[in-house]
This record gives sequence, C-alpha cells and structure tokens, in this order.
Amino acid sequence: MKIAIAKEVDAAEPRVAATPDTVKKFKALGIDVAIEPGAGIKSGLLDADYEAAGAVVSADAVKDADIVIKVKRPEVSEVTKYKKGALVIAIMDPYGNEAALKALADAGVAAFAMELMPRITRAQVMDVLSSQANLAGYRAVIESAEAFGRAFPMMMTAAGTVPAAKVFVMGVGVAGLQAIATARRLGAVVTATDVRPATKEQVESLGAKFLAVEDEEFKNAQTAGGYAKEMSKEYQAKQAALTAEHIKKQDIVITTALIPGRPAPKLVTAEMVKSMKPGSVLVDLAVERGGNVEGAKADEVADVDGVKIVGYTNLAGKVPASASSLYARNLFSFIETLYDKAAKSLAVKWDDDLVKATALTKDGAVIHPNFQPKA
Ligand code: NAD
Repeated sequence: MKIAIAKEVDAAEPRVAATPDTVKKFKALGIDVAIEPGAGIKSGLLDADYEAAGAVVSADAVKDADIVIKVKRPEVSEVTKYKKGALVIAIMDPYGNEAALKALADAGVAAFAMELMPRITRAQVMDVLSSQANLAGYRAVIESAEAFGRAFPMMMTAAGTVPAAKVFVMGVGVAGLQAIATARRLGAVVTATDVRPATKEQVESLGAKFLAVEDEEFKNAQTAGGYAKEMSKEYQAKQAALTAEHIKKQDIVITTALIPGRPAPKLVTAEMVKSMKPGSVLVDLAVERGGNVEGAKADEVADVDGVKIVGYTNLAGKVPASASSLYARNLFSFIETLYDKAAKSLAVKWDDDLVKATALTKDGAVIHPNFQPKA
C-alpha cells in the first residue's frame, strides 16, 4: 500500500498533511510513503527530513498512490492525476461547494472530509476542528496583540503605570477557551460570553469573568451534541444590549461564535465597533462563515475610525509547524482505522461510524447523506 503526501497548490496554505514523525509511523505499519518535493517547506520541514524518515521524494508521488493526503480539497487539475479508486483525505470544506464534490466523484476518487469526523471519544484523536481551532484561538490573541498599540500586561514602572489590556472573548468553544488562556498568560483582564451554560464554569476556571444573559432560554441553549442552538430574536436583543455596554470599555474583542449548519451569528454591530476607543482591535474568527462582527472582511484588516477589525481566515496556518504537526497526527490516527495491519492492506469498513460521517464520494457518486440532490 502506498500513501502520497501532496504539496498544497494554494500558495496561501502553508500547512502540510504529514510530518517526518507520521511518515515513520506509516512506515512502521509497512506502508510506502511518497511526498511531492517541497511539500513541507512552509512548515519548516525539508525534503531531506522526510527522506530520512523513509519517504520517497518525487514529483510523481500521487501516481499509483492508494491514499492521497492533503490539507485542502484538491482541485480538478490535481485530482485527475490520482489513481481511480484512490482515497483522498483532506479538509474538504464541502458545504456550499457541491460542484467541487461532484468533480471529486467524477474523478472516481473516494474523498473523505476530516472536518466531518464525529465528536465521539474514539475519534477525539482525529478531531481536526479541535486541533486547528485551538491554535487559531491562540493565534487570534497574538494577532490582536500585534495590532494593538499598547501592552497587554499591567506594568508599574518608574515612568508610570501601563494598565492591563481588557480582552473580551465571544464564543467559548475550543478556540475561545484557548484565546482566554492565551490572553490571561499575556496579562490581560479577560471576560467572556457564550450561550451555553456549561461554558460559565470553564471560563471561570481559566481566571476570566463570565458575562451572559442567563435566562430560561440560556439554560436550554446547548444541543445534545454539545453545540449552540440559534437563539431567538428576543434573546439576541437582550444579548446585544448587554454586549453593547461591555464592548465600549474593551481594548480587544475576539469572536469565535458558530452554530453548526447556520451562518455565524452577528454579535457585534457597526455601532458597537464605533463605540470602541481608537486603537482597539477586533479579531473575527467566524469571518469565513459570514462573521460575528459587522464590517469584518475575509483576509483583510479593516480600519473603522482607528478601530481595527482583523479577518484572517486561516489563523491556524499562521502557526504552520504546530498546525501541521497536529493535523498530521489527526490524519495518521484516522488512516490507521482504514488499514489492516496483519494483511498490510487497505481495509475500509464502509459501515464504520467514522467512515460514514466523513466519506463524501465513492465509485463516481457523491454518497454523503448531507449532500444528496434535493428531491
Ligand atoms: P463552535 O466552533 O461550533 O462554536 C464556538 C462557540 O460559539 C460555541 O461555544 C458556541 O456555544 C458559541 N456560540 C454560538 N452562538 C453564540 C452566540 N449567539 N453568542 C455567544 N456564543 C455563541 O464550537 P466548538 O469549539 O466546536 O465546540 C462546541 C462543543 O463541542 C463544545 O461543547 C466543546 O467542548 C465540544 N467538543 C467536543 C469534542 C469531543 O468530544 N471530541 C471535541 C471538541 C469540542
């Protein structure tokens, strides 16, 4: 069996799907590994490192590969080079990209979307949403500190006192929790909000203050799957009133609020942005899903009367070595479940929950239930 590590064609994507460490793990299972030249360079990983780990570096790496691994969904020009029937595993971004899914099906590959991995205990080690969101939350704080014209920690010096920065984190999932922890480590005074009651204790355990409209609706805002529900208009109005007062006094606002299958909730209006002091910074991690902040633009830093709105879409990619290392391990753990160690061959169990949740295409068709044409 052969695995190929493809180089990302998107110049803005610095991550890579395998590291020398995971190459060694594949080799230990008896799997051949080939890698396209320069695939790891933007994550600080040289061809020689992969070679030393046992990979063959070749421009033809994907040819004849049984599995091709990538960070981003392959384009048509890439996928047509893959063997028919090959497994292609990446972050596929399938929602709203149905034409691209059809192209994968037409190319005859079996495409798997890592981000659709179910959040069950067995699959925690394969959870790319968590591994990448954690780094994105960290990096959001670093970006905000960079764009902020002041220091984060309180400094008492002979020349006077620098006050601690006030940071407000909206949405306390994986990214939000890491943003809180990072801002605290930098010495900021941190507050945070979410609609799920379970987050209150998590926020407080990190030394931050929790702020939310804690009414009856709030008590039931978490789905059985652990995600947020879309809140009623009435709740949103109460939340906006509370937030508006608070945001005025903040230096940094980091928003991460998402609702599965829905556009991101608008939490910060243009008016709230205007109420902030010049020099303040907002970082909107939800920008790709429509944004939590009015005026946030994908991959841009907008300036509204001296208030900056940072809208970078690939924040995990701004810590590429760490992001690649975690993503590579997520992938390795998933591929292990698709492999028969005794027979040393591919053995996909199509009725396995992990496979059913992630498999998008097979035998020329789109097979995932969420992407079937509407009757
Ligand atoms: P997410 O990215 O879907 O959303 C980010 C946060 O935004 C969530 O905390 C959500 O409650 C919040 N949010 C949504 N609407 C909001 C609003 N109007 N105002 C304020 N906040 C709002 O979340 P996530 O990081 O994927 O985590 C979701 C849940 O999944 C959490 O409970 C997390 O602990 C859990 N989780 C479980 C596993 C696992 O079991 N393997 C792994 C990761 C996360």
